[in-house]
Amino acid sequence: MTRAVYETVVVGAGIVGAACAHELARRGMRVAVVDPDVVGSGASAAGMGHIVVMDDSEAQFALTRYSQRLWQELKPELPETVEYEACGTIWVAADREEMDLVSHKSDHYAKRDVATQVIDAHRLKQLEPNLRNGLAGGLLVPEDAVLYPPCAALFFMKRAQDLGATLRLGVSAIQIAQGRVLLSDGSEIGGEIIVNAIGSKARELTPGIDVKPRKGHLVITDRYPGFVRHQLVELGYLKSAHSSGGDSVAFNVQPRKTGQILIGSSRQYGAEHKEVDQAILARMLDRAGEYVPGLRSLWAIRSWTGFRAATPDKLPMIGPWPGDKSVFVATGHEGLGITTSLGTARILADQITGAKPEIPVEPYLPSRLIKEYAHAE
Ligand SMILES: Cc1cc2nc3c(=O)[nH]c(=O)nc-3n(C[C@H](O)[C@H](O)[C@H](O)COP(=O)(O)OP(=O)(O)OC[C@H]3O[C@@H](n4cnc5c(N)ncnc54)[C@H](O)[C@@H]3O)c2cc1C
Repeated sequence: MTRAVYETVVVGAGIVGAACAHELARRGMRVAVVDPDVVGSGASAAGMGHIVVMDDSEAQFALTRYSQRLWQELKPELPETVEYEACGTIWVAADREEMDLVSHKSDHYAKRDVATQVIDAHRLKQLEPNLRNGLAGGLLVPEDAVLYPPCAALFFMKRAQDLGATLRLGVSAIQIAQGRVLLSDGSEIGGEIIVNAIGSKARELTPGIDVKPRKGHLVITDRYPGFVRHQLVELGYLKSAHSSGGDSVAFNVQPRKTGQILIGSSRQYGAEHKEVDQAILARMLDRAGEYVPGLRSLWAIRSWTGFRAATPDKLPMIGPWPGDKSVFVATGHEGLGITTSLGTARILADQITGAKPEIPVEPYLPSRLIKEYAHAE
């Protein structure tokens, strides 16, 4: 029996796999992509689509900023369905103490050429009249944007296919190793390079990879155009996103181009079933109502959950998997994989093709999280 052999097989057609497939095809490689579901399912269908610069660490900043610039460059080519909108983020400060964080964040961004505006309580109310009275102010980051992730994934995949990539849906990879991808229908395809891009399930194909599913809930309302105008996030979100302990919720609300309002967000480890957890949903909506009281009287039309792929050091894994020369990984993006899909695709393709990356790749190498390989490179 003959088997198809590709230069690269990308396993997983979420936004990360699709962006990688596109980037590799753009560089002239023969690419195949496999996924049991539709393109842009998984966390990519569940995520919020906030394209955001984050500064938890220099490495996180480098990848988010690099990726944000790539999104900005791509914007003129994005179809309407991707709903890219540079609405900006307002990090909302509840009190004086949080205003100190605002100044700190603003200085930090200024040193790194990210434009921001510190806004006082009055300006905050002008910009977002539905926020409650009594908030201290905030930080506006105008270059941040929002988009609709499943359509962005479809866009990348369509472009990859236009460049000759082969897409096989309806089959899962059940094993990847030594240049071979075994599929659930019993067939096999060969790949000189195989990219594990299956998000929070990465362990199923790459045992030993330190990625855990971190559940999140979202709610979407009916259409209320103009009710919220920026992505609004409480400064306390950073605490919630970075805690490595128990369940947490934070106020994080997004205006959709449709006029709908997307309300998030929650974080839970150890909850591996996808059903909506009513208790955490209620906590999340209460938190949102504390900031925007009018949200309580809007019609919510759907709630759902998704799983972020979390790593212990809160950075993704992008690069070769130690121990098998044919395997690369592109996962572990936690709550930033929509933003960083483009940067991930670039630096993964740079490593595969031997091109010089535009940002240092060392912080994202998978070997950093595996003791026996951490000092070997
Ligand atoms: C509630 C929530 C809110 C979020 N908000 C944001 C946000 O505002 N901004 C942001 O940047 N990020 C956000 N994220 C994170 C973002 O959604 C993810 O980081 C991103 O979607 C990860 O994409 P991925 O392609 O790696 O994984 P996924 O989208 O999960 O795709 C993995 C793919 O692999 C496939 N697959 C699984 N097993 C196999 C197998 N054995 N063989 C072949 N294929 C397989 C799946 O079917 C799926 O299509 C959020 C996430 C959640 C859950």
